[in-house]
Amino acid sequence: MKKMTQAFQKVAAIRGMNDILPGDGARWEKFEELVRGWLHGYGYRNLRTPVLEHTRLFARGIGEVTDIVEKEMYTFTDALNGDSLTMRPEMTAGVVRAAIEHNLLYDRPQRVYSIGPVFRHERPQRGRYRQFHQIDVEALGFAGPDVDAELIVMLARLWKLLGLTDIRLELNSLGQASERAAHRAALIEHLERHRDILDDDGQRRMYSNPLRVLDTKNPAMQEMADSAPRLFDFLGDESRAHFDGLCQLLADAGIEYRLNPRLVRGLDYYNLTVFEWVTDRLGAQGTVCGGGRYDGLVELLGGKPAPAVGFAIGMERLLDLWQQVCPSASASAPECDVYVVHQGDQAQRAAARVGEQLRDAGLSVIVHAGSSGFKSQFKRADASGARVAVILGTDELAAGAASVKFLRADAAGEGSQQQVPLDQLADVLKSKG
Ligand code: ATP
Ligand code: MG
Repeated sequence: MKKMTQAFQKVAAIRGMNDILPGDGARWEKFEELVRGWLHGYGYRNLRTPVLEHTRLFARGIGEVTDIVEKEMYTFTDALNGDSLTMRPEMTAGVVRAAIEHNLLYDRPQRVYSIGPVFRHERPQRGRYRQFHQIDVEALGFAGPDVDAELIVMLARLWKLLGLTDIRLELNSLGQASERAAHRAALIEHLERHRDILDDDGQRRMYSNPLRVLDTKNPAMQEMADSAPRLFDFLGDESRAHFDGLCQLLADAGIEYRLNPRLVRGLDYYNLTVFEWVTDRLGAQGTVCGGGRYDGLVELLGGKPAPAVGFAIGMERLLDLWQQVCPSASASAPECDVYVVHQGDQAQRAAARVGEQLRDAGLSVIVHAGSSGFKSQFKRADASGARVAVILGTDELAAGAASVKFLRADAAGEGSQQQVPLDQLADVLKSKG
């Protein structure tokens, strides 16, 4: 006889794209809640853009000759109309597109944030994934340096809220286009003198994007990069004043930094302020947050010129660090406050009603699903982390009551069991919280 169905070959997730399982989900939620409170504390409002955008947005916004656009984007053709689409590899371009499209900056600047997944086709390793998550924060329409400083101060507060130490700030200024042009000429001369040690990327970019050649991770090119002319030395008075203003405000806030003239960042749109927060606790992928000013981007993407500054935090890296430094703060939460166990059909129906009644009172409740014996139900109750079990059996039903048993060692009367009339149940459970 012909076999009707073929065994289905199991499907695994795509390499570099992680499932966040329930055991970790609680940590993510706790983290996101804390982050939202922190963002609202500075008046940032949520802006959500699509995960898919036209490829040309990123090609233009991030820059053609960048790692991201050259080799890291998930790009495909829309089979219906032939459009080239790209899974967002970062959020700034989409946020700026949305601000222009909806005219958000016509009468005032905007503080906005986005949290969500981004996609880059990189070699997966610890702290480097193909789908990862960013907290993206943008101050649109502000010339700084006050807002630049505010963003950095804000990040320092987040590290404090999370209890993080071992995280330091690197700072640089990329000046303005004319200053970069003068530096660029000097830099190209330097690269030409060291042409023999440049790798393929370096050779290819030495004229198209020489600054990016210095951002190499190739050890053989470090010495050449260290001895290259520094953009910082080419800054004019205005750029210097902007940078000094920022440094003054950081000093006022008691924030330490290291001036890193090599810091250029992997995207083309930055000018003046650029910064990264780095740690030594995460191995090679030690940059937890990167940001800077991008005054030209709004105009570049077709909007009325407006200055802007922002940053993106890599959530996986930050959570990894948080887990290491504060394992207890980032521990996973119990599944519920109250676990309801029951025996018999009548009791099961009563349990469903009691569950709803307790949720009305604001408690988090799991009603045991299915009809197993008390013993295995209690096992589940225990494993759920619930503080208390509510028991509904024949005796309880007859008495119009439930038995209450405290499960945790730290709760008053642990292990003891008492009968409580159903109409007082919520009050009793809440008062013994
Ligand atoms: P890197 O130099 O590590 O490649 P980047 O300069 O490409 O970082 P940004 O574009 O500035 O990174 O992104 C902001 C943040 O997102 C980074 O500081 C980092 O924390 C995180 N990040 C970047 N790429 C990845 C990735 N592939 N997987 C996980 N997190 C990432
Ligand atoms: Mg990168």
